[in-house]
Amino acid sequence: MFIIILGAPGSGKGTVSKILSKMFKIQHLSTGDIFREAIAEKKTIGKKIEKYMKNGLLVPDEIVNKVIENKIKDNKKGLILDGYPRTIKQAKFLEDLLAKQDKKVDKILRLEIDDDEIIYRTEKRRICSNKECGEIYNLEFKKPKVENKCDKCGGSLVQREDDKKKVIKDRLRTYHKNSKPIIKYYEQLGIVSNIELSLNKNITKQDLEKVFI
Ligand code: AMP
Repeated sequence: MFIIILGAPGSGKGTVSKILSKMFKIQHLSTGDIFREAIAEKKTIGKKIEKYMKNGLLVPDEIVNKVIENKIKDNKKGLILDGYPRTIKQAKFLEDLLAKQDKKVDKILRLEIDDDEIIYRTEKRRICSNKECGEIYNLEFKKPKVENKCDKCGGSLVQREDDKKKVIKDRLRTYHKNSKPIIKYYEQLGIVSNIELSLNKNITKQDLEKVFI
């Protein structure tokens, strides 16, 4: 099963993907995480993409599509795709890639949330710096028990460079510009489900079961 999570940066795609990954026992693949790791580990690809990410811009389609091609070619069970596709070119590339294996995208889950809430929420987001863990916190509504320490592994919590206010605004602009045609494209296929979110509401497994079961 291939599930795509669509939503603005900071809408909670990572959290939703983690729940769905457990629910369906399929891997969660975040292109953003792959890129952040490549930058942190100073891989060749990391050097190419750093300037785009720092400025809240999209990494060029050819680079992203290559990464996805490598991840999908040996995949048997399916994936929860978080942050991909982000352009029509990527959506079409994915469709062709899956069609070659007689597979298709099964469901698009779109997370809807106001931009103002996103800015508020994202500025308060912290992530565990331990790569094996990567647990996501929010200083407003999912606080760690001990300040700046991960509840799960004790790793220190950090703020992503691109979660700072100016960059969030740029990322939101980029998201709105690119997401409209993608949503339209998948709506024509009749596979889009929407979930409305707000600051006061954390998404639960039960919310997701309503969409998938
Ligand atoms: P995310 O963690 O999904 O919010 O992604 C963080 C950043 O990584 C984005 O602002 C882009 O610069 C880059 N990125 C992640 N996924 C993609 C994608 N599918 N296409 C282009 N750029 C991407």
